[in-house]
Order: sequence, then structure tokens, then C-alpha cells
Amino acid sequence: MEAIRPFTCTANNMDLDWRVCSRARLSRDARFDGKFFIGVLTTKIYCRPICPARTCKESNVRYYPSAAAAAEAGFRPCLRCRPECSPGTPAWLGTSNTVSRALRLIGESGLGDRGVEGLAERLGVGSRHLRRLFLRHLGATPLAIAQTRRLHFAKKLIDETRLPMNQIALASGFGCVRRFNAAIRNFYHRTPTQIRHLARQKEIQSEDQYIFRLNFRPPYHWQGMLDFLAPRCTPGVEVVEAGCYRRTISANGHDGYFEVSPDNERNLLVARIEIADPQSLFFIVERIRAMFDLNADWADIVETLGNDPMLRDRLEADPGLRVPGCWNGFELATRAILGQQVTVKGATALAGRLVTRFGKPFRGPNGLTHLFPEPEVLADAKLATVGLTAARGETIRALARGVCDGKINFVGIVDSEAFLCRLCEIPGIGKWTAYYVAMRALGEPDAFPSTDLGLLRAMNLTSSHELERRSETWRPWRAYAAMYLWRFGTRRPPETGLLPGSADNYRRQDVSPAPSLAQ
Ligand SMILES: [Zn+2]
Repeated sequence: MEAIRPFTCTANNMDLDWRVCSRARLSRDARFDGKFFIGVLTTKIYCRPICPARTCKESNVRYYPSAAAAAEAGFRPCLRCRPECSPGTPAWLGTSNTVSRALRLIGESGLGDRGVEGLAERLGVGSRHLRRLFLRHLGATPLAIAQTRRLHFAKKLIDETRLPMNQIALASGFGCVRRFNAAIRNFYHRTPTQIRHLARQKEIQSEDQYIFRLNFRPPYHWQGMLDFLAPRCTPGVEVVEAGCYRRTISANGHDGYFEVSPDNERNLLVARIEIADPQSLFFIVERIRAMFDLNADWADIVETLGNDPMLRDRLEADPGLRVPGCWNGFELATRAILGQQVTVKGATALAGRLVTRFGKPFRGPNGLTHLFPEPEVLADAKLATVGLTAARGETIRALARGVCDGKINFVGIVDSEAFLCRLCEIPGIGKWTAYYVAMRALGEPDAFPSTDLGLLRAMNLTSSHELERRSETWRPWRAYAAMYLWRFGTRRPPETGLLPGSADNYRRQDVSPAPSLAQ
């Protein structure tokens, strides 16, 4: 592929041109990490903007909007800055919804058996059109993007784990060792074994335990993330302890857990995963990245939200707040229903009882005793036994049945709107819950529960229509605005049990058909 220089991509009123790239490269600006890659003509190597290697002359570099584009132009990845560790493609691809959705699907399950054709079909576009869009926004085809991701993950497994190569070949989706070896040699100009020798792993990892370093673009407000998650932790399933988040997981029929803590010096989260099946590591790591919103592009968010005087001070006081995602969409939606019309504390207690009664027992470290109940179990569960009202119990059973018969599927969502409409057909699930699910389970950066009392209070407004109108200028980052308003707007003394994000305390509109907060 031809080198692009200067390349321009529209990033919500921000044109990222080669001058911007050049400045970011020369100052090794971590905020641009993953937003573009640098091909060095003299060495034929491509780097991240933060590469510690000596910076070279402008005339000797080319800029690429993705690692795959740099690879297709004949550059190989730098072994020092390790492009596979960059924080990933930010949401500024929101300028092309189709590309963003395609990337989400590739991240969830790769290209699948039907390749680009199948992907295009799911997105409802022609495959040639999809290729064109990818080339325009990422400088590489969907196939090249998917392959690069696979190679990058394989490289991470070689560097950061002690897994044998045949297992890495499977876990990164290569099928057989021969193809894996060939692809790595072709891409890195080194064999997998040579790469592992270079990696010099420091930690001794025990069997079935994997440690991954997951980069983000700074700033990242880790404490803000924990402040939101801690009061909502489901007892037995999740724990926030000593600055660390920990939870039980189930993937591919294997049970395990992970814990995440920050390394702010190096702009990354350290994820320690324990699972018996290395084949699900790709999925688990992608889920953790989504859950902790690691692809967010703060510079872009603050550029839009910072224009609003109501938000500016809050953004400056606590920069880097993210939208907490979730491990599992069904679990999050169930939690949201449990929280209807009770306090966060009350909902957490209910969730704890639900888990003790219906969850699968698990023997894990501190505080992890159960896995969250599967939809198959909750579909017929007698939920009155844990103290749920008949109506709320039926809502949870209906949700669980919907997941069991495939009507509701939290994975592989192409059209969020259509999905949320299906969700709202379940009696007892209203707009508030739907937007909350969109924010936290679908990772929609613009989802915004405008009927939320906490948000209205924080903005001193009385009607959701007013709030909707007011929030127009926050697009496409309204979910982030919501996080800031919750964090700052509704701080109360802790003994009331109402914590930032008090939205969980107000769900009346979910059960009454035509709610109006103005009344
Ligand atoms: Zn480098």
C-alpha cells in the first residue's frame, strides 16, 4: 500500500494531520498512542509515538492510521516500543459508524469463517464498500486489520506468558503451529522462539495464570473507576480491595477469575488472569479492555465536553474518568433490574442473595465465592426466595428466557438501537435501564439516561426534555458527561447509602409507562 503523508482523519472537529503527528512523535506524547503509527524509512520498522528509540528526521518517516496499514506498506513492528501494546483504536472512528461496529465485531469474535463477506453481510453493507471504508479510515483492509490483531495478540502471548508455542498458535487463532510460525516470521522477521528470548520475562507465573499489561492513553482516573464499581460489586462475584478490582469469570466452559490494578507510571493496567483454558485469553483480554474503557481517547472527549462551562471545572478537577463497562451484559442488565427502586446498597444486598442461592460455587481468592448465575438457571428461578417482588422476579426471568432462546444476545450487536428496542419489550425494562445497558454493556459513548434523577439534579433541571436539549452539544460523548455529573452532582454523606451514580436509586420511570420527572 502506498504511504499516506500527510494523512488526514476527521476526529470530531479535530483534523489529525501530519503536523500533529509530527509534534506528538517528537514529544513522545502518550495521548496519541494508538492513534497513529510511524514508519521509519531507513530501518523499515514501524513504531508507536512513544517509542524510546532516538527520533529520526521528518523526511525519514511516514505516518499510518493503523498498525495494519504500516505493516501493509512493508514496515515491521518495532521490538522496543512493541506496537502490539498500543492502547488500540480510539472511538474517533465514530465518524464512521460502520467501521466502529466492524471493529467491535472483529474484536469480539474475529472475522469468523465467512471472512470479510460475512462481516459485511452482518453490517448490512457490500464487502467492497466495507473495504473502501476501512482503507479510508484505517489505511488497511478488514482482513489486514483482523490479521494484525491476531499477530499482535500472539506476540503478547509470546512476550508476556510462558505458554508453549502450539498453545499460542491456537489461542491466537492460527489453527496450526506451521501457519503461526510462518506468519510471525513474515511479520516480525524473527521466529517465535527468538522473540521469546528477547522478551526476558521477569515474573514467574504459575500454571494457568497469565499477566497482561494493557495500555491506555493517559489520563486515566482509576480511583473514579473504583469509586463507581465498589458500591456496585456483587458480593461473592466481585471485590474492590486495596486499589484492585477482582471478579470471577466463566469462559468457554472454564471458570476462573481476574484482577486488575493500575500502573500509572507506565500508563497501563496490569491484568492477572487465572483460567484453565488459554484459548479464551483473547476474548478475556478484549473484555477487560472494554470493561475498563481502555480505548477511550481523552483528548477527543475533553475537546468536546470542555466547551461546556458546567462540565469544564469537573473535567479539570478529575481528568480521565472513564465509563465503566461490564464483564457480561446479562449480568449487568440483571443487576440494573435488581436495583429498580431500591438504593445501591439494597440492590447489592439483593444481588448477593441471588448469587448465594443460584450462582455456581467457586473457590477463589479473597471474597470470590461464586460465579454469577447463568441465564439458564434464572429462567425458571423462584426469585421470591431471595426477596424480590413478583414483578421484578418476572422481569429477570423474562430477560433470562430471552437470552436462552437467542432473542436477546449481548454479543455481536450490530444495531444498538434495534437491540435496545428488543430489550424494552420485556415488561419492567424501560428507557432508563436500556440506556444504562447501552452505556455499560454496549460501550456506546453517546448513550445518555436523560430521565435520570441524579443527572437532572446535577444540572439543576426538572425535565428530561430540557436535559436532552442541554446534552446535544456533548455528543458523541454524553456517557462521559453522565459519569462526571454523577460523580460531582450527587455527592451525599456516605451513611445514606446513596453514592455517586445515584441513578440506581431512581427507576420509577422504568415501571410506569409514561414517566415524567417534571411532575
Ligand atoms: Zn519503536
